Amino acid sequence: MNTIFGPINSRRFGSSLGIDLSPSTKQCNFDCLYCELAPMATVASQKEVVEVEQIIEELKQHLNEKIDVITLTANGEPTLYPHLDQLIDEINKIKGQTQTLILTNSASLTDNKVFNTLQKLDQVKLSLDAISPDIFKKIDRPHESIKIEDVVQKVQEFSKIYKGKLFIEILFVHGLNDTKEEIHKLNHVLLNINATRIDLGTIDRPPAYDVVGISYNELHDISLMFDKALPIHIASRNHAQPNNSSYTNEEILNTLDKRPLTMDDISLLFDEASQKRLEKLIDTEKIVKKTVSNLEFFIPHANIKRKHQKDPQST
Ligand code: SF4
Repeated sequence: MNTIFGPINSRRFGSSLGIDLSPSTKQCNFDCLYCELAPMATVASQKEVVEVEQIIEELKQHLNEKIDVITLTANGEPTLYPHLDQLIDEINKIKGQTQTLILTNSASLTDNKVFNTLQKLDQVKLSLDAISPDIFKKIDRPHESIKIEDVVQKVQEFSKIYKGKLFIEILFVHGLNDTKEEIHKLNHVLLNINATRIDLGTIDRPPAYDVVGISYNELHDISLMFDKALPIHIASRNHAQPNNSSYTNEEILNTLDKRPLTMDDISLLFDEASQKRLEKLIDTEKIVKKTVSNLEFFIPHANIKRKHQKDPQST
């Protein structure tokens, strides 16, 4: 069974070569409502385990200088792979300049071994969909051993000592974690997490269960409910309908002050005349571009120093 897939061109992470740490079946400690894999009972550990040697042999055949990032993922949760520490050591011996990344649901950070192992990676993406135990249980349907309070504490601790690029991803499900109360709780927790970028997403692919995502406009409204200092990025725009609204110069500056936007966002939100006004603000350096790990944001010059985030250049 092949463990390597891609490379895939990812907007957020660049050219990514994937390693599937559970290629034969879904093995996960969550059974999320929105999972793109079929529903399945949760597990606390992997039963079907691939040898490290096999993965490294396959990786050597596919690794080349065009790959930006080697992404550890799985049909399920990659941190359940029992040889993760050894595997990362072996990858680090052969990866050269290529970055390493793991996409995890965060729950295994409560295991000290995994907590330490993830620090060996260049980039880590942690999911955090909810803070309230009842909402967490409804959306992510975790294994009975997992408590969201413990996970949140470990995510915060991890962010304080981790030296690489840390991404947080929140996936919004209509009617569950998109309430003001839950966003307020997420905001409170995020202010105590040292993240390079916080990606807000919603359901973009057919989900395991009968749930629906939220619209791009709702995501944008939610993005404005988070503290200005957080490095929020709207990551889902599959079902986006152009807004084409008119913004004055002052409104453009205010909007970007509240929430820096990428050109993709601006094309959806601003009408043509407003985009021209934005160009003039860029020409006169009232608005500048700031790159945060592969993505270019527009931000008022006046607040470029203010944003609460890890400096991506420091990693
Ligand atoms: S953590 Fe990922 S793989 Fe596991 S159920 Fe949720 S979406 Fe699916």
